[in-house]
Amino acid sequence: MASQGIVEEFLSLKSDTDADVLTMQCGDFYEFFAEDAELVADELDLQVSQKSSHGSSYPMAGVPVDDLTPYLKALVERGYRVAVADQFEDGGDHYREVTRVVTPGTLLETDDADARYTAAIADGSADGDRIGVALADATTGQFLVATAADADEALSELYRFGPVEILPGPAVRDDDAVVRRLREETDATVSLFEADAFAPGRAAHRLEAQFGAETLSSVGLDTDAAVRAAGAVLAYVEETGAGVLPSMTRLRTFETDDHLDLDATTQRNLELVEPMQGESGDTLLGTIDHTVTSPGGRLLREWVTRPRRDRSELTRRLDSVEALASAALARERVREALDGGYDLERLAARAASESADAADLLAVRDTLAILPAVADAIAGSRLSGSPLAAVVDRPDRDAAARLRDELEGALAEDPPKTVTQGGLFREGYDEDLDELLEQHREAREWIDTLAEREARKHGLNHVTVDRNKTDGYYIQVGKSAADGVPEHYREIKTLKNSKRFVTEELEEREREILRLEEARGDLEYDLFCALRERVADRAALLQDVGRALAEVDALASLATHAAGNDWVRPDLVEPGPLRIEAGRHPVVERTTEFVPNDLRLGGAGGGDGGAAGDADPGFLIVTGPNMSGKSTYLRQAALITLLAQIGSFVPARSATVGVVDGIYTRVGALDELAQGRSTFMVEMQELSNILHSATEESLVILDEVGRGTATYDGISIAWAATEYLHQGNNLLVDGGGGPKTLFATHYHELTELAERLSRAANVHIAGEENDGEVTFLRTVKKGPADRSYGIYVAELAGVPDPVTSRAREVLELLQQDKAIDVRGGSKGTEQVVFDLGSGQLKTGDDSETTAETASNGGGFDPEIEAVVDEIRATDVNDISPLELMSRVQEWKQRLDGS
Ligand code: ADP
Repeated sequence: MASQGIVEEFLSLKSDTDADVLTMQCGDFYEFFAEDAELVADELDLQVSQKSSHGSSYPMAGVPVDDLTPYLKALVERGYRVAVADQFEDGGDHYREVTRVVTPGTLLETDDADARYTAAIADGSADGDRIGVALADATTGQFLVATAADADEALSELYRFGPVEILPGPAVRDDDAVVRRLREETDATVSLFEADAFAPGRAAHRLEAQFGAETLSSVGLDTDAAVRAAGAVLAYVEETGAGVLPSMTRLRTFETDDHLDLDATTQRNLELVEPMQGESGDTLLGTIDHTVTSPGGRLLREWVTRPRRDRSELTRRLDSVEALASAALARERVREALDGGYDLERLAARAASESADAADLLAVRDTLAILPAVADAIAGSRLSGSPLAAVVDRPDRDAAARLRDELEGALAEDPPKTVTQGGLFREGYDEDLDELLEQHREAREWIDTLAEREARKHGLNHVTVDRNKTDGYYIQVGKSAADGVPEHYREIKTLKNSKRFVTEELEEREREILRLEEARGDLEYDLFCALRERVADRAALLQDVGRALAEVDALASLATHAAGNDWVRPDLVEPGPLRIEAGRHPVVERTTEFVPNDLRLGGAGGGDGGAAGDADPGFLIVTGPNMSGKSTYLRQAALITLLAQIGSFVPARSATVGVVDGIYTRVGALDELAQGRSTFMVEMQELSNILHSATEESLVILDEVGRGTATYDGISIAWAATEYLHQGNNLLVDGGGGPKTLFATHYHELTELAERLSRAANVHIAGEENDGEVTFLRTVKKGPADRSYGIYVAELAGVPDPVTSRAREVLELLQQDKAIDVRGGSKGTEQVVFDLGSGQLKTGDDSETTAETASNGGGFDPEIEAVVDEIRATDVNDISPLELMSRVQEWKQRLDGS
């Protein structure tokens, strides 16, 4: 029996695929069997029944053929790779074959506007640490390749693009640390694609077949690693059977150093596209996104996560934003013209994969028509002199107009969903089709007038001619007249008040109509496939037009936000200072009565970096009470810099932004701890990354360093990191110039550093105390905060009185008893001692003093330190009273002897 073998057929197909789940067509259903049935039952609440086969019984679950898509989507979105086996017929026998493997990266049925990149990363034999990164978006045909300097950079790139699926190459997948980071730091499914696809020869061959042999050299795809990654991702898209390869028309290489270095942590900390908690509207993207089309939104997201360094491109964007911001009427006209446009890149991919229907091609037609409309709105306005005009002129407008006209002349206005039953085309598009339609019309007309003719000819009353599914065409005559029908009428049905007849002639016409309808369906289907193929052939044109419209949309969005929120055009200068007058936080200002603040941060390279003259400090130590606004002030500086480097206006009265090569952030362990993310180890890894990566041209934001460990440890690390960053990578030369840095700390002790380091200065966010009440003024002022307000905040938070009073006592004790020994940085290896009691740094009197003697003279005794450590480590709940007594005795002896 055929059905006996179905489960076996399923299991055999399953063993040949490396997909996680298989679904197999059995007539009108797609079925899942065995483990896969149990899996879909769990994941998708499908009903499970039992199927017996060869004496065994297997779980079985199924969905109707037409309903498969939503189930596929749901499975893929949960990270499963699903193989689809379709049923074929061969001489009456049914057999099944896997036609597609739907994976997160090749799921075409998506309503989500974001890009869906599949990424491959691979090493190369002669490329050292370098890693090739290739990204393909099956839904839009985008194909991008780069070579990253090392695995870290490759991971940052991946984080930036947010791929949904990642294919690590053979060597990369053996690196446990990298694979772990792929899994932890991205939301992507990690798929282990066959290692052969990464082989250099095969990969190069695959690429040449897709993009042409010349492309590889002309686009500068010059590392083995990049070729391997690119070839593998192409092979993957091909093998999954998504059918979109024709829409991948261009290979674009990108330089990883065209863009700002923004590591994963920084993107998260600055809440660029994802909030740490709460609503997505609270992100930078959510704030500035006023785009009216999904490709526009997609592009803006790309800009936000990949800010640029080259001033020329940014200046072009800023010029456009400026023009759009100041011409409100023209801007609205442009946005209205854009509104209602569809996603041309996605439509091109649908055409290529032959899944586009007539409505999709109409969407192509209508969106192509938007290009001249937008161009006209620009040309006839104050925008005509801006670079925006060039954006819409970039695509081949004539070719776009020709394609639009062709679609306009071809497609009917309200085509059906199916493409096999006719009704898709306009008359006049195709002669053969017109001929068929004419014959059809004549046949129909004959039928439409038949009732009248028959009534007249045979003197019949109550005659109608109609058609239904079971009877086909028939002549219906009222009962009273039914006896008088002519002989050649053949009765087919008797109803209550009438009878139905057919005649030979009518049957013949009916056959003709059916034949014509079938011929029309076939012809229209062929015409449609040819038309769809011509559209697919012009995927590159559609992508160009789509990109241009997206760019106008994104620029108009930036202008809309700037105009509505009083933002200004930043003065973008070569690497150098950051000067902000009355700056605001772009996201916080929307919901808060925001108190603007100034910032002057000198940067290396712009003439402000040296120790000379009254240059702005390049390193600001920001102190102030908890909740006073330190974090906000820091993030505001980073976001204003970033906005300028995507070509946006910024929230300030005025701003000069020296272009940076990267923004690095580290956010207090406590904030992150709340997210369950940080440990002291993570904090130190992040700090280490910053110290390794930041250059003179970077911006570094440190929001508390060293809080995850004991106070003295923490201060020491913060202190040393400050020195290191302050002086750049050469500790011996002061004023050599490190990155522009903002360091918020509640270690009041660190404010003394500003005295000693030439590029450093203190600022504080003022709090005012009246009768024990602290008011936050949110204003940034020069100099260090006068004290820490921690205990006050504890009171505010309702910590009981005895505890806060006792805390005050302890603080006083600490200030009397303890001093810490630290190492000043400005003059090489000078020793200084910070005395908590006096709040002063004491310089060793004798410049010959060595570290050890200074330490013993002014700071801790190692023995005391050891005892303190032991006391800390002692858990009084875990020790007998007797034992405790003896230990205290011992400690006392050691302290006395010390
Ligand atoms: P800190 O880092 O000093 O603990 P935050 O930066 O987290 O303080 O700010 C505390 C609160 O003050 C936040 O709710 C923030 O929105 C608000 N805030 C910060 N800066 C300003 C400002 N300049 N104007 C108005 N509100 C502000």
